[in-house]
Amino acid sequence: MFLTISTTGTHERPATDLGYLLHKHPDKAQAFSTSYGKAHVLYPEADAQRCTAALLLEVDAVALVRRGKGKGRGGAPDAALAQYVNDRPYAASSLLAVALSNVFSSAMRGVCTARPERATEPLPLRVEVPALPARGGPDLVRNLFEPLGWTVTVEPVALDTEFPEWGDSRYVHLVLESETLTLAEALRHLYVLLPVLDDAKHYWVAPDEVDKLLRVGEGWLPEHPEQKLITSRYLSRRWSLTRQAMERLELVRLAEADDSEVEEIDNAVEAEAETEEKPTPLAVQRRDAIVAALQESGATRVLDLGCGQGQLVQALLKDVRFTEIVGVDVSMRALTIASRRLKLDRMGERQASRVKLLQGSLAYTDTRLKGYDAAVLSEVIEHLDLPRLPALEYAVFGSARPRTVLVTTPNVEYNVRWESLPAGHVRHGDHRFEWTREEFRAWAATVAERHGYEVEFRPVGPDDPEVGPPTQMAVFVMSAADGKNPNEKEAKAA
Ligand code: SAH
Repeated sequence: MFLTISTTGTHERPATDLGYLLHKHPDKAQAFSTSYGKAHVLYPEADAQRCTAALLLEVDAVALVRRGKGKGRGGAPDAALAQYVNDRPYAASSLLAVALSNVFSSAMRGVCTARPERATEPLPLRVEVPALPARGGPDLVRNLFEPLGWTVTVEPVALDTEFPEWGDSRYVHLVLESETLTLAEALRHLYVLLPVLDDAKHYWVAPDEVDKLLRVGEGWLPEHPEQKLITSRYLSRRWSLTRQAMERLELVRLAEADDSEVEEIDNAVEAEAETEEKPTPLAVQRRDAIVAALQESGATRVLDLGCGQGQLVQALLKDVRFTEIVGVDVSMRALTIASRRLKLDRMGERQASRVKLLQGSLAYTDTRLKGYDAAVLSEVIEHLDLPRLPALEYAVFGSARPRTVLVTTPNVEYNVRWESLPAGHVRHGDHRFEWTREEFRAWAATVAERHGYEVEFRPVGPDDPEVGPPTQMAVFVMSAADGKNPNEKEAKAA
């Protein structure tokens, strides 16, 4: 399987600069081992006028099959692969996309120390992929590449005569041409769109794929008219991941949009949510469980610690019993998006007086957090390195000391039930740990004991008889005897 990337140039701006941009010298044929075989980079032509780099991947079919049988990244067999294993050595696909990102990783990031100015400017580019499995046919190929500034020439390959109907034909010969894109942009488009067209990823899709997609899609995916199809296919149609990615892309757009657009997007999202017949996402179940527990607790002044992009704050604002809602996060970016989501700058005075967003780290005591009825730590503790956890524990239970504290965290035992999650993997790239029910209970019991709280546990999401629920929640309530805690005295003294 292979593809070529060509550019043209002049004496002053030679086409052979492509070699610098790709970090691969035009005079040498080079080979790199990848997990699925050998990738070769060579230059069929290289002079000032024209330069072509070819990436050729020699797939090791045995390694591929062996990986598919459980020694691969996820340790899980990929049923989608088995069907197509025969075309893998020949067809451009996710294997080629991965080789592309391995071999041209600096180029994909737009890094070029030898010719930095050329890395950031558009080049005349021509990309040719002789055998691209294209599920969806030439129309889809055009719909994917044209909005990005490519001129697309797409022709069926010979197989087509056996399958006259376009819908059934998988292979096309693709030529992409552009004068407006940088090489890095071109590589990122290919990295995402080749496997999207193939629609059968060779490796197990883990949740960190969402991060990867958003990173590589930066600058073009949020505005792409086929964003939904791209996202869902790229994530191998794992619905929960797609949903996550769509939510986050939405937020990128919200952050970049001006206010009238924000409203439009919000309306569109709501309309879509209403028509969707999908099970309630876990994030929503968690939010509902938290709101219910807060309502039960009788709290009116509430802290959302590690509030992220403000979804819970938004939900709490809808209930007038919550008179003061404070979102705290260490990430300024998250808070900016939260503020946008809540439309803080356009809120009436009364509503605005109920809500506040603060930047701060939970690893330090913070006097601004004292004197509240309740605090929520929703999916936050697992983002701290374990050695930092005692600091958070003290800041919340020792210093801020709200009467009620709700803590949710993933139950790692449940991970075997996520179809998209390979054994031994955590659910999110940034999770520093994930606990079993027993580990969480032990931690919570120690915290309660040390700081004078009673604690009980609730499942969130389907409570599996064997492995428990996907999310575990601890509800801490300050022990009666501790009601008059040292902080109250402090508060009076102050
Ligand atoms: N509570 C939200 C977000 C969870 S993601 C929800 O349930 O959806 C975890 C959040 O914790 C992130 O927004 C991250 O920025 C924040 N966070 C991580 N470490 C933190 C710290 N030390 N102090 C404050 N916030 C932190």
